[in-house]
Amino acid sequence: MIQYNIFPEGKKRIVTFSYDDGRCDEPLVELFNRYNVKATFHLNGSEMDEEELLEKRKLYSKHEISCHTARHGWPSRMPLQSVVGEVLTNRLMLEKMALYPVVGMSYPSGSYSEAVIEAMKASGIVYSRTIKNTMGFELPDNFMEWHPTCHHNQALKLCDGFIRDLDSQWRGSLFYIWGHSHEFKTEDDWNMMTLILEKLSGNNKIWYATNYEIYRYINAQRSLVISADENVFYNPSSTDVWVEKDKALIIHIPAGKTVTI
Ligand SMILES: [Zn+2]
Repeated sequence: MIQYNIFPEGKKRIVTFSYDDGRCDEPLVELFNRYNVKATFHLNGSEMDEEELLEKRKLYSKHEISCHTARHGWPSRMPLQSVVGEVLTNRLMLEKMALYPVVGMSYPSGSYSEAVIEAMKASGIVYSRTIKNTMGFELPDNFMEWHPTCHHNQALKLCDGFIRDLDSQWRGSLFYIWGHSHEFKTEDDWNMMTLILEKLSGNNKIWYATNYEIYRYINAQRSLVISADENVFYNPSSTDVWVEKDKALIIHIPAGKTVTI
């Protein structure tokens, strides 16, 4: 029996952060960098001068730059051509900033529908976060409706439960926290976030990843080709993956390789 609940270097859990609007991210990026965690920043806009692009590229260099549409409308209220226009215009600017393909998204105002999902996919988007808090730790079935664990205001009370029994198979794997940096207004707000990071960071059983890194890893795992006797593993992807056999053996299958055990 093969199970997928193993992450890079055999880690058992994942922590990710996801922040929208990009209006005052500097102190939050600094805090994330201090605790060595990874975040995804979903940014609006369609134009930026060279100097600002360079500044933002530097700011987000340890994190992921992701879409949030050009002008932050409500996608479910738009004709689909406007959805496509809003996404592509935003991507064109963000890719000048990031210098890599920007294919992640969080729905502005959490607004989406089946039709919006199709329009997003047609615009090159591969995952998109909602604002439906699950208060749980499960990985998404559908990355275009990626429901987070919770907003940062609700995260602190879940931290102890998540870090307890990190080897247990009975608990979910992913703690996904979202919010806006402009919501940090008082010292108490910053103290709360610092406490969350104190509890969740620096643990060698946790993989700290951006949203896209998680998407890429899970897709690589799900595309493994496995023999019927579950002794031969072919990894056709460009990402190293790990799986667990019979609740005991952890197997590393490097990108593009076949591993026989
Ligand atoms: Zn927003």
